[in-house]
Amino acid sequence: ATPTALMVGTGRGAQLGLLIRGPEVLESTRSIDTVVLDKTGTVTEGRMRLVDVVSAEGEQADEVLRLAGALEDAGEHPIAAAISAAARERLGDLPPVTGFANTQGRGVTGQVEGRTVLAGRASWLDEQAKPLPAELAGARDRAEAEGRTVVFAAWDRQIRGALVVADTVKATSAEAVADLKRLGLTPILLTGDNTAAARAVAAEVGIDTVLAEVHPEDKVAEVQRLQSEGRVVAMVGDGINDAAALAQADLGLAMGTGTDAAIAASDLTLVRGDLRAAADAIRLARRTLRTIK
Ligand code: ADP
Ligand code: MG
Repeated sequence: ATPTALMVGTGRGAQLGLLIRGPEVLESTRSIDTVVLDKTGTVTEGRMRLVDVVSAEGEQADEVLRLAGALEDAGEHPIAAAISAAARERLGDLPPVTGFANTQGRGVTGQVEGRTVLAGRASWLDEQAKPLPAELAGARDRAEAEGRTVVFAAWDRQIRGALVVADTVKATSAEAVADLKRLGLTPILLTGDNTAAARAVAAEVGIDTVLAEVHPEDKVAEVQRLQSEGRVVAMVGDGINDAAALAQADLGLAMGTGTDAAIAASDLTLVRGDLRAAADAIRLARRTLRTIK
């Protein structure tokens, strides 16, 4: 590969909205056969909104929203932003939270009005509160089948309600996935979110393989596992929790709209946060390399 041709490729990349770390990056895309796509913020907008609050028997939905909203006001996940914004909009000022703690990919806890409040996924809450009431499990199953994400709120060691949040698949994601497939690449959806929601999103954009309920610290292991099967893996992500996997991948692509950690860990940035640029990048690399062979 001549440095000049690679430099030209890099310049063409800039026109396509691709920020390429160095000319040598294009060479590493030569034999990519698998593209791992993070779900939230990559395939979807990552801007969640609260669409439903379901209270357990004997509880008030507004009280569930008020305490969960107060807690999530200290959170940083898109889920937290959705819940606290909806709570403030419907109920006004929220009480303060103290002793806030975030368990990555699982949930959050803190003290609100003297109560220990938790919000998070069922498997995590089950470790610290009474079993999930049947009416909430039913609500979760229905919401997840529609591609939604459900978190539960608990206080005084009892699960009190379910909060249903919805994200939107980006208008360009299906086209981007089709384009990746046309290049002969296998797309795989990777997420910490629940399997049903992940499958619904995958079906909407044309992805057949789903790796769901993967904790943040295990995303890198999933990329390693694919590599040990002999695959050459590109990974596209946006979150802090994608950074290690982006660095491990043979080619890491960050959404320009994503976190600094994801961008720093990647070889290439899709400046506009448009997933279609991932296929452009691989096409550009192949063309550039063909020219210089
Ligand atoms: P993703 O890979 O989709 O970005 P994460 O690994 O960040 O997902 O989170 C996985 C799951 O952990 C979420 O779907 C949610 O159930 C739970 N979770 C994470 N952060 C929070 C939070 N602040 N409040 C409630 N639940 C949370
Ligand atoms: Mg993400």
